[in-house]
Amino acid sequence: MDVTGRTAVVTGGASGIGRATAESLAGAGMTVVLADVDGEAAQKAAAALPGQGHQAVEIDVSDPGSLETLFGMLASAERDLAAVVNAAGIMTGGDTWPGSDLTRMHRVLAVNGGGALVSTTLAARYPLPGDRVVVNVGSAAGVRLLPPDPTYAFTKAGLLHFTRSVAAGASGLRVNIVVPGMVRTPLLETSGRDGVADWLAKRVAGPLLTPEQVAAPIHDLVVGNAHGVALSIELDPEDSSRVVVTEL
Ligand code: NAD
Repeated sequence: MDVTGRTAVVTGGASGIGRATAESLAGAGMTVVLADVDGEAAQKAAAALPGQGHQAVEIDVSDPGSLETLFGMLASAERDLAAVVNAAGIMTGGDTWPGSDLTRMHRVLAVNGGGALVSTTLAARYPLPGDRVVVNVGSAAGVRLLPPDPTYAFTKAGLLHFTRSVAAGASGLRVNIVVPGMVRTPLLETSGRDGVADWLAKRVAGPLLTPEQVAAPIHDLVVGNAHGVALSIELDPEDSSRVVVTEL
């Protein structure tokens, strides 16, 4: 797809995987809208992107109205929307399940699940024509046992199956999901105390994916010729300098 001058929306674009993806897509000549709940960090990230015309929008993806306003604003400005990358996400943190705070559990569901669900839907309803791709950011925690955060696992397993279900449907929208293993980002540092922190401490000392190593396959799905609805992204256990991307 020729994406030069076309618009990419990246939720969670102020940090980690979203930020690395925004940099990669801006480097390909796209105009990027960074949509993040941390408006200040999004402003800084947008200002640092290569090229012109990038924008930061403060948004809470758990609020459907907030996403409707964003997509409405893009349509009113007749933005040629080529890509939506749903990278906004949080972990449960706090006490280990079942001690987790119920309000926080519901928020994880609303951000990771509801945010990507509504954003994908609005991308499919976008009133202006044009080739368009949605890339959701899932997690290996949605397909195998990772940190003991069942609420997070629930949202990522649901997002994987939602994406496959949309891709198999007749909407005509190209929808993909990347499913990375653990990535060195601020998310891991804020992911919890107690059991989760102990679990993580044993693992984060080892080699982890970088945000850029996850952004590269997302870039290929948007700009290149990558195939496959759901792509697993993992470090090669035999050689951690290599990234293995496989279709799930
Ligand atoms: P991160 O914390 O570096 O970035 C997440 C971004 O999402 C932040 O900028 C944050 O402000 C934003 N955000 C949080 N809640 C939001 C909301 N309600 N509305 C809008 N923006 C919001 O974390 P990351 O590791 O880059 O995570 C990005 C995605 O990758 C998440 O969906 C995460 O679940 C997924 N993921 C992370 C890992 C990992 O090990 N770090 C592994 C697999 C998948």
